[in-house]
Amino acid sequence: MQLQTDKIVYKDFPIDILRLDLIGDKLQGNKYFKLKYNIAEAKNQKLDTLLTFGGAFSNHIYATAAAGKEHDIKTIGIIRGEDNPNNPTLQFAKSMGMQLEFINREAYQHRATPAFETTLKNKFGNFYLLPEGGTNDLAIQGCAEILSGIKNKYDRIFLPVGTGGTIAGIISTQELKTHVTGISVLRGDDTLTKAIKGLAKSPNADITWDVNFNFHYGGYAKFSSKLIEFIRKFYKEYNIMLDPIYTGKMMGGIFFMIDHDKIEPGKKILAIHTGGLQGIDGWEYRFEKIIKA
Ligand SMILES: *Cc1c(COP(=O)(O)O)cnc(C)c1O
Repeated sequence: MQLQTDKIVYKDFPIDILRLDLIGDKLQGNKYFKLKYNIAEAKNQKLDTLLTFGGAFSNHIYATAAAGKEHDIKTIGIIRGEDNPNNPTLQFAKSMGMQLEFINREAYQHRATPAFETTLKNKFGNFYLLPEGGTNDLAIQGCAEILSGIKNKYDRIFLPVGTGGTIAGIISTQELKTHVTGISVLRGDDTLTKAIKGLAKSPNADITWDVNFNFHYGGYAKFSSKLIEFIRKFYKEYNIMLDPIYTGKMMGGIFFMIDHDKIEPGKKILAIHTGGLQGIDGWEYRFEKIIKA
């Protein structure tokens, strides 16, 4: 797949942006790569239903619903919380034919237990199970292809990190020598770094990496006016939309590091736009018309 790269310049630092948000129509971003081999495997196992979990605004739910429609596979979304006819992500999922099942936070905490899986099997029959966020070995295998056309053009590569599945794939890219920095979108600590080490079963030894925890802007899906301001300014200047949950934090982090001399001049920088723009509508519905105002 030929991926588009856009060039921007910030304070004399050229930055290439890998536009995963532009691949496909509805199924795009890093979720395209995370789902790719899982869908193939579901077909391989002759399972005609994908079942997965997520929050009510989840990019993973949105992508799984889109993938189901595209590949003619039934999808079931187990959603934390309640239905809301105004929630754009849930309405989209339904329009793609996804069957939604709402469970409370307490029940949701037990989603990964064998007992709950049995309950679900009794209710829905056999299905291919995708974990919340879609991170598993096949997702990582798919994400190891994101940079397969990049070769050794970049000294520094940045991407936003949630569960760590995508970065685990990125640091497993073959024939690539670089340094990868994951910007954690959650308030986090070493446990995420350890989790990534566990997820990446065959990392490329030529790729060094770290996870930066300084740019969560208050935590996962938390409102930050500073971040919203940044996203709006970025769009005005470069005509590229970022989302407030993931890519805005990554780009904000890169600009901050440039401002504070944390990136040496002359380094060739790539930022991976992992997509997630569907989340903006959900954001505006929850808060106010602030990004697209
Ligand atoms: C899901 C998602 C991520 C996080 O991916 P992980 O594999 O969970 O680390 C990053 N960016 C966007 C836009 C996403 O939708």
